[in-house]
Amino acid sequence: MRSSRRSFLVGAAAAAAVASLPEPAVAATAEEHRVLVIGSGFGGGVAALRLAQAGVPVTVLERGRWWRSGPDASTFPSPLSPDKRLLWYGATPKALRATQDLIGGLLNFGPYVGLVEPILGENMLSMVAAGVGGGSLVYQGMTLQPSRETFHEVLPEQLDFDLMDRVHYPRVAQMLGVETAPDELVSSVNYKAPRVFKKRAEAAGYSVEKIPMPIDWDYALAELRGEMKPAYTDGSGAMGVNNGGKHSVDVTYIDQAVATGRVTVRTHHNVNRIERARDGRWVVHVDRTDDTGRVLEQIEMTTPTLIMAAGSMNTTKLLVEAKGSGAVPGLPDGLGTGWGTNGDRIFAWTNLVDQFGAAQGGPVVYGSKDWADPALANTVIQASIPPVPLLVNNLTMMVGFGVSQGRGEFRYDSWTKSAKLHWPASGDVPVHDAITARVERIAKNTGGIIDTHKIVPSTWHPLGGANMGVVCDLDGRVEENPGLYVLDGALIPGSTAACNPSMTIAAVAERALDNIVRHDVGVRI
Ligand SMILES: Cc1cc2nc3c(=O)[nH]c(=O)nc-3n(C[C@H](O)[C@H](O)[C@H](O)COP(=O)(O)OP(=O)(O)OC[C@H]3O[C@@H](n4cnc5c(N)ncnc54)[C@H](O)[C@@H]3O)c2cc1C
Repeated sequence: MRSSRRSFLVGAAAAAAVASLPEPAVAATAEEHRVLVIGSGFGGGVAALRLAQAGVPVTVLERGRWWRSGPDASTFPSPLSPDKRLLWYGATPKALRATQDLIGGLLNFGPYVGLVEPILGENMLSMVAAGVGGGSLVYQGMTLQPSRETFHEVLPEQLDFDLMDRVHYPRVAQMLGVETAPDELVSSVNYKAPRVFKKRAEAAGYSVEKIPMPIDWDYALAELRGEMKPAYTDGSGAMGVNNGGKHSVDVTYIDQAVATGRVTVRTHHNVNRIERARDGRWVVHVDRTDDTGRVLEQIEMTTPTLIMAAGSMNTTKLLVEAKGSGAVPGLPDGLGTGWGTNGDRIFAWTNLVDQFGAAQGGPVVYGSKDWADPALANTVIQASIPPVPLLVNNLTMMVGFGVSQGRGEFRYDSWTKSAKLHWPASGDVPVHDAITARVERIAKNTGGIIDTHKIVPSTWHPLGGANMGVVCDLDGRVEENPGLYVLDGALIPGSTAACNPSMTIAAVAERALDNIVRHDVGVRI
């Protein structure tokens, strides 16, 4: 709760004021809060809701904006004719500049609080999201739970798989309203690509099953009946579903958190750095911006309880920079290590034999699990693409992810005062080989596959950096740093066991919050 607010001029603005330059002044203010949560994705959403339900007032700081959708809305950008809404204004320009040269400046639009931030590290491009709801805004929504065996391949036994299987995974599934695509939809003309994938994968000897998705599929059926513009049924919802019906974190956890009356979500609040005050409390330095990223106010927020939920990349970056700069000297030694890609690999599949159809319904219907050997367990799914003129009949996407062994680390550069990910180029070779062999067998004799990873090594599933058992306990408490918690993908040790990450990030956060509410609320929170 805000207990004080002071205003004054800072930095360049103050200097400009003294020199009577016409530069607009940036107000600097100070506030105090009971609990601050940085980020409103899966970890932030679970933390805000469960603390609020326990009676604790919470302020959520989110750098992006709200993205409200509904039937026939045009909230989200089209993946085929992207505009400023696609990219986060702070997006790493180097990788993009190179890409823009290749694609003729297609992405050359002005700064905006857009949806996707590509973060370039050594040997690895990580894609993360921005906006209320975090990654759930742009994710396809695959909501997979590991088996006991795959779970224990990467996650500590003390998390208690049986408990999570009984309580926390089902709780997340219920919150997100996950359902598989109905047969009525899958048998329709637009869903030929998923059917082709199923036929080919089964012919190659793999089992295939429907993937649970956080989607009200009645929206897709309504599209087929012509009652709404297509968003699901032509694959065009790849960067956010305009029609609604997707149970993303903003319309589930965050809306319910706000409805308690105890949670305030502050959008356009970009956290620059954190530090520890002499009295042991946490100080969070925030820029409040407009839609273009222009700073309107600089706010110094102080709190006894700081929950890091900015996602693996940004939580780890903020923490490693706090440690490297000396702003939080006592952070654990393993901070920044143990980061992984979840074994991600994305393939373009050209199929000249079957024809996928003029419009590819999606986002995802089927996947094939190969989990027999937990050490190399992997899943391959087919994801539909937007209607690319001339190509869509022959092109779709296969995506694989699995138990990965490679681990990278964030290092602090005292010259630039920033943290950067360093990834060993051959980090994921065993699991990538296993995935590639399966994809090649599925696509055999149909045309060919292009492994996008060979062009740009990338991941949409960054995980770890403040790993449980190394930096934090299993409930996300940062060792030796009372009042500091990590409750997002940064807590997960590099892989979610042959599954996409959101289900496990949310379930681990749900488990942690049960314990935090039981043991910490009323004591240190
Ligand atoms: C295109 C795409 C498709 C994906 N598909 C799937 C899928 O099908 N299934 C699946 O399980 N996963 C998928 N993922 C991954 C999934 O979205 C992430 O694993 C998940 O969202 C991570 O949750 P989180 O709580 O760790 O952080 P996030 O959901 O990333 O939330 C972090 C939030 O913190 C905010 N933030 C970051 N830095 C700051 C700062 N300095 N100040 C203030 N706010 C900040 C961000 O804006 C963001 O809203 C996909 C990801 C992408 C990008």
